[in-house]
Amino acid sequence: MSFDSLGLSDALLKAISTKGYTTPTPIQIKAIPVILDKRDILASAQTGTGKTAGFTLPMLQLLGEWKHPGKRPIRALVLTPTRELAAQVQESVEDYGKYMNMDSLVIFGGVNQNPQVTKLRRGVDILVATPGRLLDLESQGALSLSKVEFLVLDEADRMLDMGFARDIKRVMALLPPKRQNLLFSATFSNEIKKLASNILSNPISVAATPENTTAERVAQKAFHVDKGKKTALLIKLISEGKWSQVLVFTRTKHGANKLSQSLDKTKISSAAIHGNKSQSARTKALSGFKEGNIRVLVATDIAARGLDIPLLPHVVNFELPNVAEDYVHRIGRTGRAGAEGEALSLVCSEELEYLRGIEKLLGEKMKLGVYEGFEPDPNAPVGPPPASQQARRENQASRKPKSNGPSRRPGGQGSGRRPAGGPSSGNRRSKPSGNQR
Ligand code: AMP
Repeated sequence: MSFDSLGLSDALLKAISTKGYTTPTPIQIKAIPVILDKRDILASAQTGTGKTAGFTLPMLQLLGEWKHPGKRPIRALVLTPTRELAAQVQESVEDYGKYMNMDSLVIFGGVNQNPQVTKLRRGVDILVATPGRLLDLESQGALSLSKVEFLVLDEADRMLDMGFARDIKRVMALLPPKRQNLLFSATFSNEIKKLASNILSNPISVAATPENTTAERVAQKAFHVDKGKKTALLIKLISEGKWSQVLVFTRTKHGANKLSQSLDKTKISSAAIHGNKSQSARTKALSGFKEGNIRVLVATDIAARGLDIPLLPHVVNFELPNVAEDYVHRIGRTGRAGAEGEALSLVCSEELEYLRGIEKLLGEKMKLGVYEGFEPDPNAPVGPPPASQQARRENQASRKPKSNGPSRRPGGQGSGRRPAGGPSSGNRRSKPSGNQR
């Protein structure tokens, strides 16, 4: 299958060839013709499957059939959960639309709004936005969504996780009823299905990977190790394996900082990326990591969401997520776009319950090995699952409404999550429902 047979215009084919892509990915093969046919779609695809081009290419083609009389109204809106993902999607829009007469803009919180407002005044065809800043600017009259014909909800599951359900509803009320809608999600909870049924009209379902399963090419390993020995084991694995680029997940922002400091002390260059970091620090850390100047990127789930790091060879779960679906997202950072990858989890006794939750979600057992020299102490006391006081405090702090501004979503952009809770604390997402495989 080649891109030529998907019905894309010459301008887009030229941009695709400039990017060096020769073959469309499975999600592109499935989604592009359906979108070009002006149908709504419900797509199951994680980051790494080529989903961004899967919706951007046909969106550009459909919008390109329009003439531009005077000022450009916003005709396409792409909503994303995080700033990083928003920036990456807009970069793709620019790349794929470079031989077309199309203007796009990305807007998100945490940065000065004035340059965004100035560009909006000039008019843009495609707006990529996080929900909070979008609603803020709309309520200030800096933008209108009344001419939107094309709506994309990217990583919709994460948007719900981050407490954006109300904001999404408010955005929907600002859109004209007649439009084409695309919803992308890596996982399909009942909440996502409900959102889809409210937004999509007679959608075609497309899937890049089966629902809630891990990428086939990711080799998953787990080591049982005492909590206090995890840092030493990680350092050993990185050093002995000569890993040059590894993404490490921690559950908390504090944990990410602490681990990054420990790695730096052993001369393993690292940076932490999480919701308390400024946008410029996050951008700098990510580019340093992509360019190979930083060996280890230590990230919390929300910060890492949607990061586009091609061909990432190693992902380590320094701590297991207490929300089982996050595991699927985390390991989706490796084995990207057809490349092979390894996902390694360091599991302490307190986290065994989380491991069971993940296995239940995946519908498969994970082999829990021990690493020689790091065998867990059988006599060590085992505490409760670390739905950690720390994570709970951080999440509760970030859920406090910031202001009386128009966006009343729980938590600041990029950090607001539901309070964490382990499987034993009644966290409903860690108990997959019957229709989740
Ligand atoms: P995404 O899932 O959209 O984040 O894309 C993941 C990565 O795959 C990005 O680095 C894209 O540039 C790359 N990519 C997208 N489509 C293709 C393709 N057809 N061939 C090769 N790489 C691709």
